[in-house]
Amino acid sequence: MTRRISIFGATGSIGQNTVDLIARDPDAYDVVALTGGANISRLAEDAKRLNADLAVTCYPDRLDDLRAALRGTGIEVAAGEAALIEAADRPADWIMSAIVGAAGLAPGFRALRHGTTLALANKESLVTAGPLLLAEARAHDATILPVDSEHSAVFQALVGEEMDAVERIIITASGGGLRDWSLEALANATVADAGAHPNWDMGQRITIDSASMFNKAMELIETKEFFGVPPARIEAVVHPQSIVHALVGFNDGALMAHLGAPDMRHAIGYALHWPDRRDLPVNRIDLAQVATLEFRAPDLRRYPALGIAQSVMETGGRAGCIFNAAKEIALDGFIAGRIGFMDMAGVVEATLDAMSSEFGLTISPSTLEEVLEVDQMARDRAWSCIRQKEIA
Ligand code: NDP
Ligand code: MG
Repeated sequence: MTRRISIFGATGSIGQNTVDLIARDPDAYDVVALTGGANISRLAEDAKRLNADLAVTCYPDRLDDLRAALRGTGIEVAAGEAALIEAADRPADWIMSAIVGAAGLAPGFRALRHGTTLALANKESLVTAGPLLLAEARAHDATILPVDSEHSAVFQALVGEEMDAVERIIITASGGGLRDWSLEALANATVADAGAHPNWDMGQRITIDSASMFNKAMELIETKEFFGVPPARIEAVVHPQSIVHALVGFNDGALMAHLGAPDMRHAIGYALHWPDRRDLPVNRIDLAQVATLEFRAPDLRRYPALGIAQSVMETGGRAGCIFNAAKEIALDGFIAGRIGFMDMAGVVEATLDAMSSEFGLTISPSTLEEVLEVDQMARDRAWSCIRQKEIA
């Protein structure tokens, strides 16, 4: 039976890995919609290759380019936010949520309304609106499958287990490209320094977030939201080889680890074929060749993002939403050369403090609109924090 699938964010890093898996077995899938942004030629090429019904760019001013690129193919084209929602309304059995940033929330929420299976790569959905998202899935009998590699690993380690028996969850962090730099050197790290990753091939923003561990901080929050484990029982450990992705500790002392090559097609493929396992074109691990698996506790002076994540998890409410927005702006500020690498955490903390004294943090947003409102307020506050840092 062919499965109807859609890929949101098809032109990105996760999206392209998903396209790669689908393209290997074209007869098994009926591709409903592919969405992208500025990369019109990639979107058009993949829409043709996978024979999609619909291609959507999020940019209305690129619609003509997309139409020109797909003229004569019979593939429908559309553009803009409303078109993304309309694409999420099209019946599909499996949807990949791989748009980057808060823009990924609305299409994912809409897809859940149709009781679909949502493969969730977009981290921002769980960090900014975890309880709402899970409630939406429950209300419509929809399934969310984690695609972030650590969460896919935890999910796999939990197969057949009772959550009552889970004592702790440990996710691993490579430490990013700057893990052996001194604290003084870190303060002067450039965008090019932070944008090179030793193990994973990802986009620039998430690679810098790996070096600062803001990515891991997001993942700790995702873990709490998705698996419902108390913050004190969730930890991150530095593991330079990126072979063990996560471990689950049980009440009998057992630790179940998930090992795999650092290739996102593993987690994407698991979500695609779940609950089955199928052959995937990923490298097999040769343990003798890997030889050593190292683990060490992260140094919170080097990675202040992890400390912030712990308090965000404990606070709950709107703290995750503010954290995510502030971290995106802090990253913009770093990429634009307006603040240093180690200043990003300060901006996020100052934004959380400012929003806490103005509005309080503990009230959870109760609608997607409220989430987006808090997100916007936090972005504005974060920019003021950056301006204050520039003046100081
Ligand atoms: P990329 O930046 O590589 O791709 C993002 C995708 O979203 C592209 O298709 C892009 O289009 C599209 N896009 C950009 N802005 C918008 C917008 N405003 N509205 C709609 N679509 C938009 O990101 P990644 O693939 O790296 O990551 C996607 C998500 O998955 C993120 O949330 C990330 O944190 C998460 N993730 C990524 C991992 C990785 O290995 N890369 C691992 C785990 C999670 P275009 O490029 O055409 O402009
Ligand atoms: Mg990850």
